Amino acid sequence: MISLLGRIAVLRSYPAPEPCVMQIEGQDIKLSFKRNGRCKRMIMRVAKDGSGLMMTLPKRTTQAEALRFAHASKTWVLKNISNRMSALAFEGGVAVPFRGEFHSIICPGGKRGLVQLDQLAKTIIVPGDPAHINRRLTDWFKQQAAKDLTLASEYYANAMNVEYSALTVRDQSSRWGSCSAARALSYSWRLVLAPRYVLDYVAAHEVAHIREMNHGPRFWRLVLTHCKHAKDARTWLKHEARDLHRYGVKVS
Ligand SMILES: [Zn+2]
Repeated sequence: MISLLGRIAVLRSYPAPEPCVMQIEGQDIKLSFKRNGRCKRMIMRVAKDGSGLMMTLPKRTTQAEALRFAHASKTWVLKNISNRMSALAFEGGVAVPFRGEFHSIICPGGKRGLVQLDQLAKTIIVPGDPAHINRRLTDWFKQQAAKDLTLASEYYANAMNVEYSALTVRDQSSRWGSCSAARALSYSWRLVLAPRYVLDYVAAHEVAHIREMNHGPRFWRLVLTHCKHAKDARTWLKHEARDLHRYGVKVS
């Protein structure tokens, strides 16, 4: 009985093709494949680090068909890969998201002064030597992130009746937040670029780990009880968050 079911499952869907490399206009592009029997047509995404493409294939699509599809979409492929890879340094004229809304960076030069946010005009003014803008604006974003994340973490610590031991804001590339066994919270400053409800959810998630050091049903019940926008925020993080890594040249 078990082996019969196993054979039926095999017959209904072919295994995904092995990863491969294809060339588009002299560029090597890595491709990896996933099979999804419920998919009606091919879905193509650029990998998080811009190194290649991830393709989801309907149950009978072959590797050759997938490669033809990718070649036929080569303008899209090249544009999206270069967008994903190109970091945007902070400098005058560049638009960066802050709390989910785009703001233009203005560098009037002159004497060094405080970074100013103009919420109405949607500008961030960074006076002083333009050579130091990247560092100064990164520092400013980190300060804003620390402020927002402290408020949100305190709110959820109160609501969930737990205490954290420390809170740090860093440029961690792999995770948006973490919570150690010693109840120390750590967050990525880039969360302040995302809409507020996303930063808020990450705080709820990490604070909930003080009570539940796992992602089991009790953990999720705790998060969802206190943070009504958790699902929306998770969807946003899944689809939009990788773009947040483009902004600012990395400074330690
Ligand atoms: Zn977690």
